[in-house]
Amino acid sequence: MKETPRLLAIPIKSIPPEGLRLEGAVTAAELEIPEDDRQACPEPFRFELLVTEVSGGVLAQGRLSGTMRCRCDRCLLYYTQNCSDISVCHDYPPPLGETVDLTDDVRDDILLAFPQRLLCSPECRGLCPECGQNLNVRECSCARGDDGESVWSALDALRLPDGAGGKPAGVARPAGRTPRRRSGDK
Ligand SMILES: [Zn+2]
Ligand SMILES: [Zn+2]
Repeated sequence: MKETPRLLAIPIKSIPPEGLRLEGAVTAAELEIPEDDRQACPEPFRFELLVTEVSGGVLAQGRLSGTMRCRCDRCLLYYTQNCSDISVCHDYPPPLGETVDLTDDVRDDILLAFPQRLLCSPECRGLCPECGQNLNVRECSCARGDDGESVWSALDALRLPDGAGGKPAGVARPAGRTPRRRSGDK
């Protein structure tokens, strides 16, 4: 069993005048990066950092890179996302204690590099809402309206009582999209 010390907690005394070069790898678990079914980091993140003392404080600069296993939000298949060349630049002003701990900042740098929206490809067509067919693989025979139109067309088809009855609370139509049905038609 390998024991991993807090790699990124650096004793100030160990920083030579020319700076301390740190190279290594750190796992998501060591950084307490949350992992789940949607995204995980099966391999450690590699880091290359240069830590220098600057007028009583410490400056840490460098790069991180790694890969993530993600599940596409549209088609639900897994894919590998490269997170390469995440830049690191943190300044720790004095007064400092015995050590300077980069762990939290490195974790934040990695978390910020995670994509908010997980897509196997920007063109991913996702799954058919009717039959679940992966539309990247092949078409299905379900009838579908245009993407994008479907959400609003469902709302437009909603017939709300005009005038007297008032609208049910909580149903808001999107501004500018209200169909003109009131103008004394029929
Ligand atoms: Zn996809
Ligand atoms: Zn279908």
